[in-house]
Amino acid sequence: MKNHTKSYEQLAAYCHALPVVDCHDHSTRLGPKYADPIQVVIGEYFLTDIGSVTSEDEAKTLLDASIPWQDRWPILEKAWPLTCHTGFAQITRRVLKKFYDEEEVTFAALQRINERLLDLDDWEAFDSILEEAGIVVRLEDVWPDVSQILDGTYQLTPRGRLVIPLPAYHRINNYQSVQDMVAPLTVTVTTLDQYVEACYEIFKGFKTFGAVAFKDQSAYFRPLDYGNPTRAEAEEIFNWFMADPTRSAAYPTGTRALDDYLFNAFLRMARELELPVQIHTGHMAGLYGDVTNANAIKLAPLLMLHRDVRFDLFHANWPYSGELLYLGKAYPNVALNFCWTNVIDPVYCQDLFRQALASVPHSKIHAFGSDFGGFGFEPGGGYADRAWAHAQMARENVAIALSDMVEMGYINVDQAQEIARDWLYDNPNRFYRLGLK
Ligand SMILES: [Zn+2]
Repeated sequence: MKNHTKSYEQLAAYCHALPVVDCHDHSTRLGPKYADPIQVVIGEYFLTDIGSVTSEDEAKTLLDASIPWQDRWPILEKAWPLTCHTGFAQITRRVLKKFYDEEEVTFAALQRINERLLDLDDWEAFDSILEEAGIVVRLEDVWPDVSQILDGTYQLTPRGRLVIPLPAYHRINNYQSVQDMVAPLTVTVTTLDQYVEACYEIFKGFKTFGAVAFKDQSAYFRPLDYGNPTRAEAEEIFNWFMADPTRSAAYPTGTRALDDYLFNAFLRMARELELPVQIHTGHMAGLYGDVTNANAIKLAPLLMLHRDVRFDLFHANWPYSGELLYLGKAYPNVALNFCWTNVIDPVYCQDLFRQALASVPHSKIHAFGSDFGGFGFEPGGGYADRAWAHAQMARENVAIALSDMVEMGYINVDQAQEIARDWLYDNPNRFYRLGLK
């Protein structure tokens, strides 16, 4: 991607040479070790675009590696021309070009790709792609075995720093879910106070391991309009299901006060531990999500209440840009994070980068996070190849937006370079206290 401004080439070269902080990723392991060329095309999120123009069943069939890839090809042959221009398809195009010298998705191209499939299970191969991408750190939301966090034996993927995955800790709805969450401490919990204390012990263990933030993506399960219920309201629900291990409260409707109470308690812990909180807002992976649940503006009461907690609002709240700009401008405790968004909608990012520069302090913008590993044919795989492509697109979106602002006389080229460095590297380094040079 490029534009026709006089400063674009210079700014793009500058952005491509910058180190970047990958603010959000889900690499639970290395990989993938591609087993067939269709996996190379569909990779991760692009599968949802395919599902959007075929059917969920056909998208699932594409994933089924027990069927020879040649027999799955007709689905891809039909789908690719219908959805080959999205940001997710751009990732595929860039991976095909960079790693396989292929320009288009054809049967012949796939036959050639099949002869030289990448094996990203190899640590060196995986890490060398991150090196080439200029990704110096990746903040990993990986749902680890918590006992390995507490005894310090958990192994992160290359360049990973851990975040503390919050949703399951406040999604409890029966006796067993409570005991499962605290099991790594080898305790049995019977009261709400004990449960909250146990969670704090676990979070402190995460911090000792090196965790740099909390992360919550509960918008996939419930609306973001957290209330501020009393302890008694929360305890009533907790005690009801704890009194009989066969009881289960409906989530989220039957546990709302408990869920909200715990989330507020965890934000106070974030304050005590001096860790920022990453929150999923906007677009949801998969099909048929209710994105209105995930609009960041629903967080406003929570953000007002917890003024000494630092929040990083994810995915640029796509497609609700106006609400996000307001929160970034009017709430000192809010930063704007464009992770995943650079490939969900590159043009949205270019527009919003421009608008944010003019309305939100530029020190509150985090421009990149790859967000691979939670989806696709190999959930958990690290997808270093796709992270490389994603980082490239984020750099170009920044360069396009800032060169436009230079062209209109809003900033000069030197300022544009400083801003690009802040957005891609210095701001997240400072915000997450990563201690990078
Ligand atoms: Zn994510």
